[in-house]
Parts: sequence; structure tokens; C-alpha cells
Amino acid sequence: MNREFLSIVAKLSESSNILVVGHIMPDGDDISSVLSAKIGLERLGKNVLAGIDWRIPWYFYEFEEVNQILTYEQVKERGFRPEVVLIVDASSPDRVGQFQEFFDSTTVLLMDHHATNTLFGDHNWVDTKFGSTAQMVVRVNNELGVPYDEKLATLNLMGIATDTGFFRYSNADETVFSDATKLVSLGGKVHLVSRIFENKRIEQFKLLSTMVDHLRLELDDKIVYSYLSKEDYENNNCNEDDSGGFVGELRSLRGVELAIFLSEYDSGEVHISFRSKDWFDCSKLATMLGGGGHPRAAGCTIKGDLYVIVEEVIREAKNLFLTSLTSLNDSASK
Ligand code: 5GP
Ligand code: MN
Repeated sequence: MNREFLSIVAKLSESSNILVVGHIMPDGDDISSVLSAKIGLERLGKNVLAGIDWRIPWYFYEFEEVNQILTYEQVKERGFRPEVVLIVDASSPDRVGQFQEFFDSTTVLLMDHHATNTLFGDHNWVDTKFGSTAQMVVRVNNELGVPYDEKLATLNLMGIATDTGFFRYSNADETVFSDATKLVSLGGKVHLVSRIFENKRIEQFKLLSTMVDHLRLELDDKIVYSYLSKEDYENNNCNEDDSGGFVGELRSLRGVELAIFLSEYDSGEVHISFRSKDWFDCSKLATMLGGGGHPRAAGCTIKGDLYVIVEEVIREAKNLFLTSLTSLNDSASK
């Protein structure tokens, strides 16, 4: 087994007070990984707190365990002094938000599957072969001897299911299916996981319709993009959490290779999600714009005027798309 994996397992094993931390703008894999690690370590008798420095989208509260995830302020209020901080699914220190403050006083253990990871922990188990960080948690829990039941298996399964688009994306490889099978055999329930996304408010459908109104196509319909402004969210009685999954709808359009969705947050920042189908490297584009992610799913956040950002991002996307297309065609003709 990987040396960093073994170091992380050893550190967790010898520690009594552990803080498990996820990333800002948490997704299903992150929430699943935080909770599966937290609950697993607690089952070994450890004193564990879990924290995410961001609001958790309301639909994840289908799982009551999500209430166990504390804000940075709540962790501070408790005066918790962890010996180690276990960070899951975060590719760079800024992604953990204010929890960076713990880095100086503790040993930082990092588990992640992003190629853009900057290896900012004291021990970094980063492996891009995994479709989800949740699968890395399965391995740590197994090595530590954590007992699984239906609740833990379902929570852990959530990360694998959500990061692979419910087993549809190109990262849904054999290991994804064998890990999912194992969790299902331990009581994991896929239909309970899918309930997070099959629980929509009618306002979200109206918000989707606004997004479709703003939809534009570029470069022979190979690029699709759309956006939602703060006013769009307000007019539909929604906030930015309610548009989770919209970028996937854009990508589902026939013939599209790259989908871009820009969302103006309450804070005035604009979050941009990139998704591709077959070949375009979204993480390259996101990294150029100060973010990161995976080849087929990446993102970044930019401060400024939404409409100026839309123009800039689409210009950058078109440029990189055309140069990437040229090198793709060149290598195909060789
Ligand atoms: P999403 O578009 O769903 O927000 O993010 C897609 C992927 O890109 C996820 O793997 C996420 O972790 C990553 N990502 C999104 N935004 C950022 C960002 O601002 N910085 C970095 N490093 N990664 C991001
Ligand atoms: Mn992930």
C-alpha cells in the first residue's frame, strides 16, 4: 500500500482528538467523505469534530448526520485542540477557508483525488485514479477496522455516486463499481442517496427556465454557456444552492463538448462551473482562471461584475478550446 496512506492511517490510529475538514462550496463527495471519516473514527472511540467553512446546501440535510458538520465559528467556540486535522477532497489550502488557521498547531493529513492538488498537508495521500475521495475514506476506514452499518454505508456511497454522476461519468471505472458493490453489500442504499436530488422545489424548475432563457451557443454549438445573476435568484425565491446540477443540464445538450455555467453569489462573487464530455480539459481552463478541478469537471471563483466576467470567461474558453482542438486534430492526423 501507498506510504502516505499508511502514514495517515498510523497518525489517525495514534490520535485521540481529530478534526475532519472539508472544502468550501461543498459537494456530495466532500460531505460524504467528511461524515464517513468522522463517524468511522468515532466508532473507534475517538473524539472527533467535523467542520466545513461554508453553508451546506439544504438538500443534503436529507441525511440527518449533516447536522454534525460544524461551522468554523462553532469549532472555535468549543475550544477544540485537535492533534491532527484530516482534510478531505480539498485541492489547495484556500479551499478549506478559515480552517487553515489550525495548520500551524497540528499535523495536517490530506486525502484527495484532484490532479490540481498542491500537496499542502504534512502527509498527502493524493491519488487521481479514484473517481471520488469517498473511496479513499473506504480504504482508511477498512484499514482502521471501522464497523459499517446501513447508515455509514449509505453516507459513504453518497460520495461515490455524486462524484461519478450516479455512475455515468468517465471516472466510473471498475474500482468505483466494486467499492459501490461492497458498500451496498454492507447496507448502502442508492435510492436514499438519489433522494437528495429528487426533492426539488418548484422554484428550482422556474430558476432552470431562467437559465435556459440565458443560454448561448458558441463555436458551432460545441460550447454552451449560461448564467444566473443575483436578481435571477431573488426573483425566483432561490439562492445559489438551488442551481446545483444546472451545468450538467447544459452539458447534456446534443453535440456540446464544453458547458459553462456562471452563478452570481450573494457575496457578489461569481462561481464558474466547467463540464466537458469527451476531450476538453476543464481543469486547465479553471486553473488559468485561478481555480482547479478534474479534466471533465472543474471550477473557479472570480470577483467582479457578472457580465464582464461572462465576456472574459467565454473569450478565454473559446481561445483554449480552439488551441486544444488544433492539437487534438494534429495528433489525430499523425
Ligand atoms: P463545481 O463546478 O461543481 O463547483 O466544481 C467542479 C470541480 O471543480 C470540483 O472537483 C471542485 O472541487 C473543483 N472546483 C470548483 N471550484 C474550484 C475552485 O475555485 N478552486 C479549485 N481548486 N477547485 C475548484
Ligand atoms: Mn471529489
